[in-house]
Amino acid sequence: MSQPTPEVYEQGKGMDAHNQVMREIRSRKEASYDPHEPTRVWLDEDNTPGGVKRSLTIILNTGGCRWARAGGCTMCGYVAESVDGGSVSHEALMDQIEVCLEHEADNGDEPADLIKIYTSGSFLDEREVGAETRRAIADTFADRDRIVVESLPDFVDREKIADFTQHGIDTDVAIGLETATDRVRHDCVNKYFDFADFEEACAEAAAADEDADDADAGIKAYLLMKPPFLTESEAVEDMISSIERCADVSGCHTVSMNPCNVQRYTMVDDLYFSDGYRPPWMWSIAHVLEETADVDAIVVSDPVGHGSDRGPHNCGECDDLVQKAIKDFDLRQDPSVFEQVSCECELTWETVMERERGFNQPLTR
Ligand code: SF4
Ligand SMILES: [Zn+2]
Repeated sequence: MSQPTPEVYEQGKGMDAHNQVMREIRSRKEASYDPHEPTRVWLDEDNTPGGVKRSLTIILNTGGCRWARAGGCTMCGYVAESVDGGSVSHEALMDQIEVCLEHEADNGDEPADLIKIYTSGSFLDEREVGAETRRAIADTFADRDRIVVESLPDFVDREKIADFTQHGIDTDVAIGLETATDRVRHDCVNKYFDFADFEEACAEAAAADEDADDADAGIKAYLLMKPPFLTESEAVEDMISSIERCADVSGCHTVSMNPCNVQRYTMVDDLYFSDGYRPPWMWSIAHVLEETADVDAIVVSDPVGHGSDRGPHNCGECDDLVQKAIKDFDLRQDPSVFEQVSCECELTWETVMERERGFNQPLTR
């Protein structure tokens, strides 16, 4: 089992107390994974600045996020899926890509236009995915329209993006910003960077976009709806202002709002078991999407685990209906989809929004 330890790069970043707790929680995991197999791969469809596209989503197994090994974000259990020893060779990573291509050939009619690569860390961090592997992956997908790779903002630079755009592939870097509010990102999520770092990464993407002749480059911001320690109404307010601030940054064309779910081996999980955390209401997600429908960016949300206790949920009766409206909104960006859904539990949600305070949360399960 790989022991979570802070490395020099991580020291002095984030909150020591949060990191200490998260290191202890993560050290409870006892699983190891094959470095020649991707963590997960699936086919789907997605809304991009170039329209709705069929997508192949790949979660590469790269050894996990270094920040997670230092302790890391309070809601993130991804390190539990990483490889023992903390690094994966070029050959093994290319084997993983091969497995994904086979999955695509077996399950899709033709190659997907959009490729999305997540690593449970940073694809652009050269300690996770070296330059040789990054370029080989760019070659492999040179015939596709668009690629999304995930990275922390520190590792985003125009040359790395150019490895993809030079093949004419539109390239987006997905950044787990979580919130535009530095205080919430630091104290509730325990993520170490600032909004200013996100703005710098957006500027790098904008520069890469300018340099590329026949491809676009941009940033997709991932936001976390309802980190721990916020009430329902604080979370909603924070999310609305975060979406507005992200949409205003040039280079950032898409915002993906991810409702927090309770993952194993996280601080959120410990809080949940002590009755200190409830994932967001589906009504909150619908409300935020309605309120931000006119911003200058695509805004989408994919409530993972919707309707379950550990995921975003309403009363149990209406969850599927609201989920369907959210998925509709993702593809069409039309807020009127929410006018057609209603349920008695909306009244409970409104009461929670009005009455829940830091000291009495969560008011409902
Ligand atoms: S959310 Fe991202 S940065 Fe934070 S611990 Fe997880 S993988 Fe690392
Ligand atoms: Zn309901």
